[in-house]
Amino acid sequence: MRVLIVEDDDLLAAGLLKVLEQSGYAVDWVNNGELADRALNDGEHDLVVLDIGLPGMDGLQVLKRLRSRGQTIPVMILTARDDVSDKVRGLDFGADDYMVKPFELNEFEARLRALIRRAVGVSGVRLSCGNLVLDTISHRAWVGDAEVAFTVREWAVLEYLLIHQGQVLSKDRILQAVCNWDDSISPNAIEVYMSRLRSKLEPLGVNVRTIRGFGYLLDAQDAESER
Ligand code: CA
Repeated sequence: MRVLIVEDDDLLAAGLLKVLEQSGYAVDWVNNGELADRALNDGEHDLVVLDIGLPGMDGLQVLKRLRSRGQTIPVMILTARDDVSDKVRGLDFGADDYMVKPFELNEFEARLRALIRRAVGVSGVRLSCGNLVLDTISHRAWVGDAEVAFTVREWAVLEYLLIHQGQVLSKDRILQAVCNWDDSISPNAIEVYMSRLRSKLEPLGVNVRTIRGFGYLLDAQDAESER
């Protein structure tokens, strides 16, 4: 999942970036409203963390423009402690959740995960496909009783496949979801991650199918038929 952070407080932004990257999100950061507006218009992100008090175009304006373009990406706004009206207007303008500064990073991350779950229509903290189970809080995964370890990037790819199970995902789409602007990995790298995922999962009976010319597919039927 790829997150855009819009925050002009460098220190806070760096903290958010760090905690999200450690959890396997691909994260981009901009520090003003104009850049945020441009980035969101490109539609590459799965979620945006949007500070309201920004130089130039403020967060509410960015949000208003986002929703007026019909974009449904989940938005978490960040507001100053004493500004209740920002919070209310933010929600009225279509924000999905808010955090009041200062806040605990743990709570921030938990709320963000909840937002993503709501957005993709998943109700629990565990994602599953056949025998494969991913715990999105502890970042542990199992196939049946066997625990499987993944690198952060492998995890990001696998989580994306699980969230979109039953759909064929192109290399470009996966790449966009797991890489930020600073990553210089090529679409071919996705093939490398896929082959690593396969070598870990296939002996346990979970298949990632390649649909030639289209992309990759993980579905429960495949996972179960191998049991
Ligand atoms: Ca600010």
